[in-house]
Amino acid sequence: MNENDVQSQIDQELADFAQEQAKELGLHAEQYTEQSHTDFTADQRPHTTLLVSGLTLAHDQIATAALRGIGYRARMIDCPDQEGLQFGKEFGNRGQCNPTYFTVGNLVTHLTQLREGGMPTQQIIDNYIFLTAGACGPCRFGTYVTEYRKALRDSGFDGFRVLLFQQQGGVKQATGQELGLKINAEFSLAIVRALLAADVLNLLGYRLRPYEVVEGSTNLALEECKALLENTLERKGSPMRGLLRCRRILGRVKVDRSIPKPVVSVIGEFWAMTTEGDGNYHLQRFLEQEGAEVDIQPLTNWILFMLWENQHDTAERMQLRRDDEARKGLEGKDPTKKLWGLAIGDKAIRALFQTYAHTIGLYGYELPDMDQIAALAKDTYGNDVRGGEGHMEVGKLIHFVEDKVNHMTLSVKPFGCMPSSGVSDGVQSYVTTRWPEAIFLPIETTGDGEVNIHSRVQMMLFKARQRAREEFQQALDEATIDEATFKVRLKGSRRWRGPFQRPPHKVAGVAANLVYALR
Ligand code: SF4
Repeated sequence: MNENDVQSQIDQELADFAQEQAKELGLHAEQYTEQSHTDFTADQRPHTTLLVSGLTLAHDQIATAALRGIGYRARMIDCPDQEGLQFGKEFGNRGQCNPTYFTVGNLVTHLTQLREGGMPTQQIIDNYIFLTAGACGPCRFGTYVTEYRKALRDSGFDGFRVLLFQQQGGVKQATGQELGLKINAEFSLAIVRALLAADVLNLLGYRLRPYEVVEGSTNLALEECKALLENTLERKGSPMRGLLRCRRILGRVKVDRSIPKPVVSVIGEFWAMTTEGDGNYHLQRFLEQEGAEVDIQPLTNWILFMLWENQHDTAERMQLRRDDEARKGLEGKDPTKKLWGLAIGDKAIRALFQTYAHTIGLYGYELPDMDQIAALAKDTYGNDVRGGEGHMEVGKLIHFVEDKVNHMTLSVKPFGCMPSSGVSDGVQSYVTTRWPEAIFLPIETTGDGEVNIHSRVQMMLFKARQRAREEFQQALDEATIDEATFKVRLKGSRRWRGPFQRPPHKVAGVAANLVYALR
């Protein structure tokens, strides 16, 4: 036997052994080939439940109700947690980004719980569908749906259907066929209204909670509002009416905004900054416990960013020597009409958001000007670079500093995320040297090491707290009043002591802005 024969014999023995072990462990040793199970037909609708998850709890709950309102059976899945992460790691490919493990594992956890609760596997496969967002990339987001299908197969749910909204280029069904899920104007309107209603509810909650006089009163009111909106949308009622009733509920929350608190913006990778559970170490809750006011990024920003990207790409494509025939190409299309459509879309989203915001009592909230964000970022991070939040994260940080939006910016980047890590660790380091006044902290979320992360946040928060205090003192000095006088004035002001009215923006902190408003 020559050397080559010996080598191939060893290789064969190793391959046999690997296969034997994989079989014993119930793993599939052969190359995975994706099978797209998307057959959802209209006649299956009455017995098929759409599972929804992936955003904040308010978004998931209200969007699920909106789906029920337009005739689907729908149920939300809980926020991804450590158990989900473990399932994700067990059944997912190696080297995925953290949100993949959390979200994929969360679905497997839910289905496993159904199975352990006594539901036969085939019944789960036949009667449930997971509805999620998807994209063609360029980051790992493009492979999410494949990850879901692989993990489902390996966990014993082969054939389980995953349908996705195509993130880029509008909302499309994965197969392109007209199936049980009708993505039409009624569907889109119901979803957009639900998402925007959840946005304003969340934003108002984050404004009130840090200043509530009775601990827990905001959360109680929010729970009541979520249930109310759920009920309204489920009955296909008007979100405006629901939001108006929420305003009455939230109006009962007593606040004391005379205390200077650091405002901390949470930005970064979309899922990691949005989730409210183990996926980002309950960051929002932790910041509030540490005495901060959290400035979250509403989903509306993301919708506006996608519209902006489309506008930008269309304008660039118009410069080509001939129209290209790619999926988003302009061949056979009227680019001017498309640009008008996108501009109208942008205006409509903004108008709807502000209408909802004013109805619930969220005053003075400004959605970012996407052209301004792009212009701020362009010298540092190209506007044509895609993946993650693109240039938006960079533009936001500069905007926060230049326009005194906050005292501190926290960027959440998941372990294994290339776009976000490149931005947070690379580009943003450069931004902070050009804008040294920025208090910026990038944190990496891996699912473990919670204590370390919290401790790093606490250290940086110390600086932010100091800055908020200094800013407040400066406001008092400029107004030539002392703190006690300010408190008396605030208490006596019907306009400013309530939970809704926001003083005009001059500096980041609400207490300091109130000093200016009351001087
Ligand atoms: S942006 Fe990063 S974390 Fe998010 S899907 Fe893409 S690679 Fe994963």
